[in-house]
Amino acid sequence: MQNTLRSSAIFEGTGLHSGAAVRMIIRPAPANHGVWFRRTDVEVGNGLIPARWDVVETSPLCTEIVNGEGVAVSTIEHVMAALAGCGVHNALIEIDGPEAPILDGSSVPFVRGILSVGLRRQNARIRAIEVLDTIEVQTPSGWARLSPSAEPSNGLEMSFEIEFADAAIGRQEKRLSLANGTFVRELSDSRTFCRASDVDAMRAAGKALGGTFENAVVVDGDKVLSPGGLRHADEAVRHKMLDALGDLALAGAPILGLYEGHKAGHAMTNALLRAMFAKPGAWRLVTCDPMTAASLPGAGVESDEIPQVAVA
Ligand SMILES: [Zn+2]
Repeated sequence: MQNTLRSSAIFEGTGLHSGAAVRMIIRPAPANHGVWFRRTDVEVGNGLIPARWDVVETSPLCTEIVNGEGVAVSTIEHVMAALAGCGVHNALIEIDGPEAPILDGSSVPFVRGILSVGLRRQNARIRAIEVLDTIEVQTPSGWARLSPSAEPSNGLEMSFEIEFADAAIGRQEKRLSLANGTFVRELSDSRTFCRASDVDAMRAAGKALGGTFENAVVVDGDKVLSPGGLRHADEAVRHKMLDALGDLALAGAPILGLYEGHKAGHAMTNALLRAMFAKPGAWRLVTCDPMTAASLPGAGVESDEIPQVAVA
C-alpha cells in the first residue's frame, strides 16, 4: 500500500548553490497525491510545483523543477531520493526559498527526519512503472540506460560507473538491487562531492555559494580535503546512485527495471525519462502485487535491520 508521513518533518539549513537560509517542511498528503513542492515565499500563483520529470530544467550541477508561472525549486534530488528510499509516495513539501537545504550533503538527515516521524499506510495500492523496452541516452561524456528486469518483482536494480582524473576518486563501479532498505543502508549517507579545481569556476558562475567542507566532499588529486575523510571508500559512486534514485523518482512512481549509468548525471537521467515516456510501448503503469511492492526501495525501512547510521 502507499505511504505518507505520520506527521510533518521539518528541516532547516542552507542551499548549496544559492547559499540562502531555508526552512523546508515535508507534510503528509492523501493517497494518489504524489510529491509536490510549494514555495511559501512567493506571491505568484499558488507556488505549487509538481516533483515530475516534465517540469525539470536541466542543469549539470543539480535538479531544478519549474512550474508554468516560472516558480522554481532546485537541488531537490537528495530529498527526492530519501522519499523514494523510505517508501513515501505522497507528500507536500513546503519551502520558503528557491533551493532545498543541503544539510550534510547526503540524504541521511532527510531519512532520519522521515523515519523519526514515521510512515502512515494509506488505503490505496502502489502503482509502479514497469520498463518494457531498453532506452538509452548518450552524450560525449557518458551514457545512461533503462532496461527491463528479468522479473518485475526484482524491483529496481542499479549499476553505476564513474571515472575521475583525481586519484582520490579514480574509477569506481557499483551494482545494487535497491530492494528492502538497500538505499537507506548502502547509499543514503554518501555525500555530494566536487573537485577543488572546480570550486573557483562554480563560485565565479554564482554556484556552490553555500558549499563548505561540512556539506561536500572536496578532493584535490589524491587528497580528500574535507575533515574526517570519506564515509565509504567508494562514497562518490554511491552518491551518484543516490542522485540517480532521486532523479528517477521524478517519474512519479517507482520504476521496475534496471538503471545503468556510465559517467551519467542529472541531465542524462532526466533525458532518459523523457525518452522513455516519449516512446510508445516502452513502459506501462502497473498496480503492484504484494511481492513486487516488497521489492521496492522503501519496503521495510522501518524495521530494525536499518543500521544506526540511518536512524541514530
Ligand atoms: Zn547529489
